[in-house]
Amino acid sequence: MNLSLSKLEHIQCPQSLLLVLNETDDAESLLKPLLARMLCDGANKPCGHCKQCHHLANHMHPDVTVVKPEKVGAQIKIDQIRALQKTIYTTPLCATKRMVFITSAHKLNEAASNALLKSIEEPPQNTYFILTTTSMRQISTTLASRCVKFSLAQDELSPRVLEVEVLFRTSIEGINQHQASVCEAVKRFTGFPLDDVLSAIQLYMHKEIKSNSHTMGIFKQSDMLLDIKKKVSENIPLNATLLLESIFIGFVC
Ligand SMILES: [Zn+2]
Repeated sequence: MNLSLSKLEHIQCPQSLLLVLNETDDAESLLKPLLARMLCDGANKPCGHCKQCHHLANHMHPDVTVVKPEKVGAQIKIDQIRALQKTIYTTPLCATKRMVFITSAHKLNEAASNALLKSIEEPPQNTYFILTTTSMRQISTTLASRCVKFSLAQDELSPRVLEVEVLFRTSIEGINQHQASVCEAVKRFTGFPLDDVLSAIQLYMHKEIKSNSHTMGIFKQSDMLLDIKKKVSENIPLNATLLLESIFIGFVC
């Protein structure tokens, strides 16, 4: 069974999301569909017609706060986070939610990062934080650990990763159409290095989020995947079969 739209309506964007982007990605235009889906009042989100969608289309939604370096190469300073904190404890003006969008989160200086951490740890109700970065290594580990992480940054793709991605996509379809069990699907991947399989799954998610279809449902999967990739890079022994089973279950349920 596919993640249908009706199902997606019940899956919320995580309250704090950290998105890893490519240098060439334009964070604001990439996230527009996600913001629209979060804020839209229509039945079919984003409807494109309601007050929220109009504000977003005109780049002036009063309940979307963007925090970014004040000029190219500058850091995000604590004063900017203090100003943000004043805003987020007030009632949204027009929507039922407030969205905080911090671009270039790796530019947060230490004081700003610590101040933001407090807001993320005890967020006001209905306030959602979306942080973007092109450099995960420069984000404080504590701050990153409080967010659900999602990577849109693509690794160098080998032909084998591309091949495994196709295999993964057809396996998910096979399970969804009850042609194979999760166990049978996982067996198809035992001959490939785990790192390649993980990169292929990441590529699969990258394509899904770009096609705007299953955005909400795959955030948790992505967070798990990034943690597993980190363990693989640190040579921590893992049970590949069990890991793949849990990844598959997350995609098909
Ligand atoms: Zn709308």
